[in-house]
Amino acid sequence: MKKIAVVDRARCVACGACRKVCPRTAITMYKGCYAEIDREKCVGCGLCAKTCPGTLIEIVERGEV
Ligand code: SF4
Ligand code: SF4
Repeated sequence: MKKIAVVDRARCVACGACRKVCPRTAITMYKGCYAEIDREKCVGCGLCAKTCPGTLIEIVERGEV
């Protein structure tokens, strides 16, 4: 996969909305603080980015992160 989701950890409020929609179960809430993306599982589909109420998720080229 070429793309991956990146979370703005500083602003994420760990609401869990992105985790619920991820078809690959690639998102977990790290210590209740922020959403963490599993690099092995994420396919860069962008569903999580569309769902985040704060638009805190970006889909980027894997080479960039
Ligand atoms: S981009 Fe798709 S696969 Fe990756 S974390 Fe978001 S919803 Fe899951
Ligand atoms: S939907 Fe947005 S604010 Fe909520 S846990 Fe995911 S990245 Fe954080």
